[in-house]
Amino acid sequence: MATLCLNTERCKSCGFCIFTCPVKALKLSGNLNADGYDYVEHDDGKCTKCGLCYTVCPDNVFEISE
Ligand code: SF4
Ligand code: SF4
Repeated sequence: MATLCLNTERCKSCGFCIFTCPVKALKLSGNLNADGYDYVEHDDGKCTKCGLCYTVCPDNVFEISE
């Protein structure tokens, strides 16, 4: 089973991944990273590891490993 990891320090809070995720597994956390952006958090129980968030994120927050 693939694993999705988030490097939340890179997140710029743009929301692209949140709007793209087909199962609504992503949302803003309400916490700020070191650069002052409300970063995205991930519900692994909902995630299907489809990779769309990885594709749309302009800041390379997501990593998928086998
Ligand atoms: S891998 Fe797919 S299902 Fe999982 S958070 Fe990203 S867009 Fe959503
Ligand atoms: S697309 Fe990337 S930078 Fe934008 S909110 Fe999602 S994780 Fe953060």
